[in-house]
Amino acid sequence: MNRRNFLKTASVAPAAASLALAAPAAPSGNATALTTKILRLNLQHTWTTTMSSSQYRDTLHTTFTRGGITGHGEGAPIVRYHEDAASARKAVESVRDLLIAADPMQFAKIMAEVFRRIPGEWAGKAAIDIALMDWVGQKLGIPLYSYFGLDPKDTPLTTFSIGIDTPAITKQKTLEAADYPVLKVKVGLATDEATIEAVRSVTKKPLRVDANEGWKDKEEAVRKINWLEKMGVEFIEQPMPAEMLEETRWVRSRVHIPIIADEACQHAADIPKLRECFDGVNVKLDKSGGMLEAWRMLELAKSLGMKTMLGCMISSSVTVTAAAHLSPLADYADLDGNLLISNDPFHGVRVEHGKLILPKGPGLGLTAA
Ligand code: MG
Repeated sequence: MNRRNFLKTASVAPAAASLALAAPAAPSGNATALTTKILRLNLQHTWTTTMSSSQYRDTLHTTFTRGGITGHGEGAPIVRYHEDAASARKAVESVRDLLIAADPMQFAKIMAEVFRRIPGEWAGKAAIDIALMDWVGQKLGIPLYSYFGLDPKDTPLTTFSIGIDTPAITKQKTLEAADYPVLKVKVGLATDEATIEAVRSVTKKPLRVDANEGWKDKEEAVRKINWLEKMGVEFIEQPMPAEMLEETRWVRSRVHIPIIADEACQHAADIPKLRECFDGVNVKLDKSGGMLEAWRMLELAKSLGMKTMLGCMISSSVTVTAAAHLSPLADYADLDGNLLISNDPFHGVRVEHGKLILPKGPGLGLTAA
């Protein structure tokens, strides 16, 4: 049984059904409505990285309705950037008047003003941007990949992520991911070797590894990366703390596999200074503040000759589908945040043997789960 089928047969939290495409009563004419709601997403496995360990995640969901069209948005707050769902919601509510009064077709102008008015709160900004872009795509009657001029056949394979756990559970998670041809493994603790050996004991698939800033010592980083290369790892994500750029540059000159920036790269303006230290960047909508900034980051990184990756936080199909619409611009995708939860209220992007399959409906192309 693949993961999707497993999910269909697994019991779904009662909350999910009542939230399905919960749009506000559609205002008539050009009347506009904005809703904000904190949604608790239940995890199938306790999720552990170097930063935290949890059994659920709260994300902020928004809807923007005008002229009978409702766009859905979502942002997953990132603790590292001092965000939580309540602060994201407060940020969106702080620009309610702007959003209600604005012409949503002027989405770029609106988002520039949102970025000017709200310090930080990137997940809140993403929840606004994605709802507007979903609305615009539906208004134009085209899927968002078409809006960005992309070919849905060009989507990359997505990895499926294995969080940090005991060797026995790591093996079980690896076996459950049978349908995914490439896996991403979280490391960055003292148990790194045991984790990779547990995965390797049950699969020969290509692996990608994320250290989430876990190695503080540059010689340790070189030693671990060279060992990972021997274990069939394709690239390493954020081996050292984001601010240790000089050390990362030193590490890069001593290893063969690409080094991808994640925590070191939040916005387009960060990318030029990362060129000497990293081979590529991991772009996430929750980190950038939505699709528009994510698109700028992908295009800028490509223009600088860097590799591009699209990642996600644990979230519903809203954010993951929004990212997937941009994924033809990415060399690598790690868009599995919706597959790790058991109460996703939406259907959007699908995964078939690792390949991202974009929905063809207008906007994000979401339907109720
Ligand atoms: Mg990462």
